[in-house]
Order: sequence, then C-alpha cells, then structure tokens
Amino acid sequence: MASTLEDARSIDHFFSAPSGRTDRWRDLHAIARFWAKGAQPKQAVGAALDELGAMEEFHAFPGGELIAALRERLKNEDANGFLALAKRISLAIITGNYKHDSKEWQAVDLSLAEPVDVLPATLGEGAVHRPYFEMLTVTPAPAGRWPSMAAEFRRLRRAEDTFVYEAILVGSLEDAICAAVLNPDIAAVAIYEGFALRSAHDAPVLRSVLAAQQPLLDKVDEADLALRLAAGLKAIRPELDIYLLSDRRVEKLAGDPRAAMIRRVMYQIEEPLELHLSVLEGIKARFETPFFDNLKLYAQRPIATFHALPIARGKSVFRSPWIRDMGQFYGINLFLAESSATTGGLDSLLEPTGNIKRSQEMAARAFGAEHVFFVTNGTSTSNKMVLQALIAPGDIVILDRNCHKSHHYGLVLSGAQPFYVEAFPMVEFSMYGAVPLRTIKKALLDLEAEGRLDRVKMVDLTNCTFDGHIYNTRRVMEECLAIKPDLIFLWDEAWFGFARWSPFLRPRTAMGAAADIEAWLRDPASVVQYERQRKELGGKPSIDKLLDTRLVPDPRAVRLRVYQTNSTHKSMSAIRQGSMVLVKDVDFNKVEAQFHEAVFTHASTSPNQQLIASLDVARRQMELEGYGLVMNAIEVALDIRREVAIHPLISKYFRIVGADGMVPKEYRSSGFVDFLAPDTRWDDQLRSMREDEFCLDPTRMTLVCGTAGFDGTSFKGLLAAQYNIQVNKTSRNSVLLQSNINNTRSDVALLISVLLKISNEIEARLQRGGEAEQKAFAARVHSLMNEVPDLPDFSHFHDAFRGDAGETTPEGDIRSAFFAAYAEKQCEYLRIDSPDCDRRIDKGPALISASFVIPYPPGFPILVPGQVVTHETITFMRKLDVKEIHGYEKAKGLKLLKPDALISKKSHVTGNGRKKSQAA
Ligand SMILES: *Cc1c(COP(=O)(O)O)cnc(C)c1O
Repeated sequence: MASTLEDARSIDHFFSAPSGRTDRWRDLHAIARFWAKGAQPKQAVGAALDELGAMEEFHAFPGGELIAALRERLKNEDANGFLALAKRISLAIITGNYKHDSKEWQAVDLSLAEPVDVLPATLGEGAVHRPYFEMLTVTPAPAGRWPSMAAEFRRLRRAEDTFVYEAILVGSLEDAICAAVLNPDIAAVAIYEGFALRSAHDAPVLRSVLAAQQPLLDKVDEADLALRLAAGLKAIRPELDIYLLSDRRVEKLAGDPRAAMIRRVMYQIEEPLELHLSVLEGIKARFETPFFDNLKLYAQRPIATFHALPIARGKSVFRSPWIRDMGQFYGINLFLAESSATTGGLDSLLEPTGNIKRSQEMAARAFGAEHVFFVTNGTSTSNKMVLQALIAPGDIVILDRNCHKSHHYGLVLSGAQPFYVEAFPMVEFSMYGAVPLRTIKKALLDLEAEGRLDRVKMVDLTNCTFDGHIYNTRRVMEECLAIKPDLIFLWDEAWFGFARWSPFLRPRTAMGAAADIEAWLRDPASVVQYERQRKELGGKPSIDKLLDTRLVPDPRAVRLRVYQTNSTHKSMSAIRQGSMVLVKDVDFNKVEAQFHEAVFTHASTSPNQQLIASLDVARRQMELEGYGLVMNAIEVALDIRREVAIHPLISKYFRIVGADGMVPKEYRSSGFVDFLAPDTRWDDQLRSMREDEFCLDPTRMTLVCGTAGFDGTSFKGLLAAQYNIQVNKTSRNSVLLQSNINNTRSDVALLISVLLKISNEIEARLQRGGEAEQKAFAARVHSLMNEVPDLPDFSHFHDAFRGDAGETTPEGDIRSAFFAAYAEKQCEYLRIDSPDCDRRIDKGPALISASFVIPYPPGFPILVPGQVVTHETITFMRKLDVKEIHGYEKAKGLKLLKPDALISKKSHVTGNGRKKSQAA
C-alpha cells in the first residue's frame, strides 16, 4: 500500500491530496489497460481500486454508483468494460468535465437505480456553463440512505438555477472536517443535528490536531457539537456558507451568539427546497461582483460621450487606419468599458456610495476586515495613504529598514521620524530576513526609557518578506500592545494577500491574527492571564526581564488598530496595480476623515475602471475557489522543492533553501526543519506555524544558482532569454522562484526539465574543458558562494537630522534631510572609489547622504537622506556588482549634504532647544 499511515501524515501528502488523487486514478487506468491486454492479473486492478480508498467518499464524482459499476465489471471479468469506464472517469476527474457534462455520471450500459438528472451544458441563450460546486451534508441518517438523499437534492434542480451542485454525505464531525480540507469544490455545508463525532475511517493525525484544540469534544451535546463543527469548518474555510438544520427550537438556536457563523438555521422538517434555494442564494452572494456586473451593463448601452476620454467607446481607435490594431488586439469591450463618468452606476472610487462601496464591503467580508479600500495605483500608493492618514509630523514610526521604498517615501511625505530596526541578515545570500521581535520590543522599551513612548504611533513591517519570512503577527502585536496598548500596526502584505485562503497561513496574516486577538480580548480569561503576569513581573521589571518575557497586554487597555496593504495583482487575479487597504481598527471613526484626505492626496482622479473591476472579480474568485487554488500553489511549490532535492544531477548544481536555511534556529522553537525533511508531518508544520517566531512561506523558493556558477542576475537572464521562464528577484547567488494560483504541474515539469538541461550542459562543459575548466568553475562557485559582502546596518542620522531624538534612540528627521538636498549649493558629490571617501569617514567632515541609495538587488536602501556614510556602507557598495543602483550615479559619485552648509539647517531643525547631542 502506498498510502500508509506515515505517508498520510507527511505534509506533502496532505498538500498533494488533489493531485495524489488524480495520480491514483491515472494508475488505475494504466493497470486496467494492462489487464485488458492480459499483462496484469485481475487482483492488481482490485488493489488499485482499493487504493483509491476512503478519500473518494469526500468527492461527489464519480460517486458510489460508478464505483459500484467498476466493481461489478471487475467481478464479471469484464476487462474491456472496466477499462472503458476507468478511463472515462479518470479523464473526467483530470479535466473536470463531470462538472458540466451529465453523461460523465452515467455508467451507460448499467441501468442505474437513480438516473442522474441533468447537469445541462447549455441553458437558454447560448452555451453557458453553470458553475458547479459541491454541498457537504452532515447527517445522522444511516449510510444506506445517502444515495437517495443525494438524488433528492438533484431532483430539486430547476432550469432557472444559476449554479448546479451535487451533495456529498458524511456521518460524522471528523469526516466533515476531512471533506472540507480535502475537497476544494465544497462551497456550502448543511449540518443536520444528531451526527456522530468519530469517523468510521482511521484519521489519527486529524484526531491529534482536533484533540489538541478541543479537548472537551467528547463531552459536548448534540446542539453544541453542531456549533463546534460549524466553528471548526469556519476556522479552516471561513468562506463556506453553513446551514444548520435542527429539530429543536430553532428560534432559540438562532439567537445563540455562537450561531453568528451560520448563514441560516432551519427547522429540519422544512421543505428541502428551502435549503436548496438558500444554498444557491449563498453562492450568489459570493458570485456577485457589483462593480463588474454594472460595468458590463454599462458597456452594452448606447452612449454618446461628451467628456474627455476619446478612446471611450473605441471610435477613435476603430475608425483610424493608423491605430486600429490596438482595437483588434484588445477587443471592443475594453473601449466600451472605458469611461470617465461616475454616473450610470459606475460610482466614484474617491467617494464611493454605490456599487464600488458594495464591492469594497464584500471584499471586507471576504478578507476578514472591517473596511476595504480599493487602490488603483499599487501598494506603493496604499502604503503612502495609510502612513499619511495615520501619521503626523514628528510621530515616531518603528519600521524595518529593509522594507519597500514606499514606506520610506511615505515617512518623508508625512514628516514622521523613522526608527529603523534591522532584520536578521542572511549574509550568505546577500539578503535580509525579518525583524526579530526582541529588536522591536527593545526599540519600544528604549523609547519608553527616553520618555518618548507617547510619540510612537506605529510599527510598520513587511509580512511576508520578499523571500518568504512570515512573522508571528499575533505575537508581535500582543507583545507590542503590552508595552503600548494603542499602537497602530501596518503590515505590508504585498505578496501575501492570498494567504487568507490557506488555513495554514491565515493565522499569520494581519487580519487573521487581528481576529484571534479580538477573540482573546473578549474572553474573560484574558484579564486573569494579564493580572497573573503583572504580579509575576512585579513593580518595575528590568528591560532585560521584559525582553525575555512573552508579554501579555492588558485586554482592558488595548485599542486594536491593524492595517494591511496587499498587491492584489501580485497574488490574485487583479490587473497590475490593483491593490487593497484592509482595515480593522476600533478607532477608525476617529481617523476616517484623515483617511479620506490621504486617499484624495494620493489617488488619481481618473481611476481605471478595468482595474476596479478586476479587484471585484479577484475577490469573487478567492471566495469561491481560493482555497483550492492556494492549496494548489503550495502543492506546486512542494513539488518543485522535492524534484530539485531528489534529482541526482540537478541537486548536484542547484538547491532550494529549506525552512532551516531561511530561518535561523533560534526563531524555530518548534524544532520544525523543513517541509521535506524526513519524518516531518503536517501537524509539525501546524505547530511551527502556531509557535515559531518566523516561518517560511512554502510558495517562495530561494533557488541557489551560485553553486552552478551563475550569479542571480545572469541566471535570471538565461532563464528568460533561452527558456521563457520568468523569475522575480535575484540575489548575488540565488533567484527567487514563486508559485502562485495560476501554476500547474506542467509548469513544474517545464522548470525541472530546464534545470536538468542546464545541469547537463554544465556537466558536458566541465568534461570537455578538462582540469582548467573545472578549476575555473570551482573558483567561480567559491567566489559567488563565499566572497559575499557583509550587509551594512543602518548607521545613524547626522546630528543635524536627529530632530528632537532621544539621547540613546536612533530616530531621525528624514524629511528635512530629503528637502535639504533640493538646494544644489548645499550638496556635493564624492566618488566611492576616491581615497577622499575613506579619509573623510575617518577624519571628517562627515559624509551625509543627500538621498536614498537603493541597489537592485538586494533592493533595500543602504543609505537614506540624512544618514551618515560609514566604512561598512562604502565597502558594501564597492563590492556590489550590480548595474542598477537607484539614487547613485557612478560617474558623479554619492550625492552628499555639505556638513558646513547644515549649520543653519541644524539650528532651524533644532530650534526647539530640545536637541541632544550624539557623536557623529
Ligand atoms: C511590490 C511591493 C510593494 C509595492 O506594490 P505595488 O503594487 O507594486 O505598488 C510594496 N511592498 C512590498 C513588500 C512589495 O513587494
């Protein structure tokens, strides 16, 4: 048996459930072919059929009847009949054809007890596929009755239904959870009270996970069990609609606050049609895309435009002999859907009151936020909006120096004082990890010691980082709130928007953690927990003590204020620049006006309609199929990781860095090593996700190519130019591969074949070139892998730009430095290869950066305006062999602020007399 218990426990088995399933069907088909040719005995076919196992029960197709038909043919030695049916089923599963072709459900020559009703391919006007989903039905009815119950739901189908579904029946809580995890097509759940707790199947891993979370599960009564199941399902897949059918006093149940997660509570003996209609309506509520729906209607209307947007309606394009190809390329709808009007239901992004407002509200529901703002200028703009809305001049913001440039520029614009904190360095790859919580706490505690805690408004971090480091968002927020209970958090989740749809990743998103903290705040036990810790810590705990303690905030004092920005276009089906700001802020009403000002400051007054529509549609997709898509993205990543690791030749030259390589041991208290490490089970990963300070997003893969003799940039170029493979970021010796919701297993195959080809070429070259070539290769690898420059920490702001910073804290007045550089006569240039550079660093006058200097890669600012240049900075820049350095012209040199010109500046900046000195 391939699916032993150990297999079932491995993470990769868990995440590859869908493709594991198609593989097993493919295997069955192959063996059936051999049987038909007489090359395999019947027993082998029987074994392969058994192999499909219990998992088939969690899927509507092929269903018990077709499986029975297969068994029947096996029993009757009908090898050809078996082959034909196995082939058809296997194909239908791989292609998904059964979702719209009713013929797939029939065993043809077998007279089914219950002929499957229509899943019509066409309906009324044109060939429109009705989207298909599955409804999980949890029932106390004996298994023998399930087929007729499923048939009953089928009989309720009406021609005017917009969607079509099949019911899957299970009898226990455990099976219901398994089905929801394993079957991404499930979109709705009907729970009939009275079902069992335990599965008839062996589900030890699931049981251990459930047991850890709900130790009292055995003791709960029926009604409670239903609510527990609902809660469990919602924790895994919050988008599912849940219907509860009870035969007790439903009015009372409906009033139970815990029933809030249930879409509708119904009386069990009510008409099944009522349930059927409710289920379809629930799907419709997610399918609906108010802005996009209206935009389509708008495009169909005959409209004469007298506004300034010549391409609207496309006439200027299609009538032109010169630019008609643009029209042909994009199609007429693009032009029909272009408008600068905010009437005709198109609503205004800047002041939404109609369907954009509704679309945003639906996005808020989907993403677990209280408010969502659509942004059509990328997360670069979203970040600037949030910073401007919440931060005033002089406020202190603690932020990762390594964050996206929009944050730094946002602080320049708002006049805030950045307090840069450092991520842990990963020198061997010339990249940074994420900022340790201890560093963040220390920043807050140091500011408190300086009497400046009241000036700190925000902690601003990137989650996950470009390279895949995920914060323990909940822990970071809780511990920071223990020091300052009204701190605002901005989580830049540019890459991580999709994570909402994975139960593994969700608790580590800003909104997921905020929801958990909110639940904790409501729990009376939280106050007890806080008071206990307060007593333990005593009157005046030392900074070290506080750093060593996992701090509990005072639930009565906490104001939970969480903002997340995400580049919807980076991880979901939005058009480039489509971005969202998610808000969960108890004090939002106090900043709402400011927030709107920030929108007015940064948003274009001509937002793109197609972009807004794509944000609307991206939300719809994630709510209806996001779970399966994200599961697939993770599966693809694990596939790539495994193939690279086990291939004898590829692994000689390439490797993908595991969780252990990306996250230093001290931040992995769970002991989790890597997704593919031997003996790793998916419950280990769950624990790592829950406990560890940082964990790794499996979909972000650092592929080391230095060991194949390539630096990141040239390897990226090679993949693009010769193999049509695009990758994202590079470092000195690695490239970043990323899987997302659009990848398939063919993409994996392509990538692996390319890596193999390149490995083969290296082998051949080394053989041909003999010793000399091998030596040169080894030297190149050594240089790429070992001669890596140290990553320079943020040095400090020059005295002139420390504003009223604390004696010992490093915050600074970046804005004054930025604008000081506008006066050309206050600036000077110095080439980094000049000896003057070193002399001045040693003897002065200080070198003060006039601008941001950002090399790509790695893409973080090694200098910010007002920062003092040190030997570390210069050494790093000298060693850096990249072509693109923003803010630096090689021929002219570094742009610096002349220290003597700053005297007047300084007295201006420090005119408030609060200035304290610091050695420069
Ligand atoms: C890409 C990115 C941004 C900017 O997002 P755009 O949508 O490209 O404007 C901000 N922060 C991080 C971490 C990013 O990766």
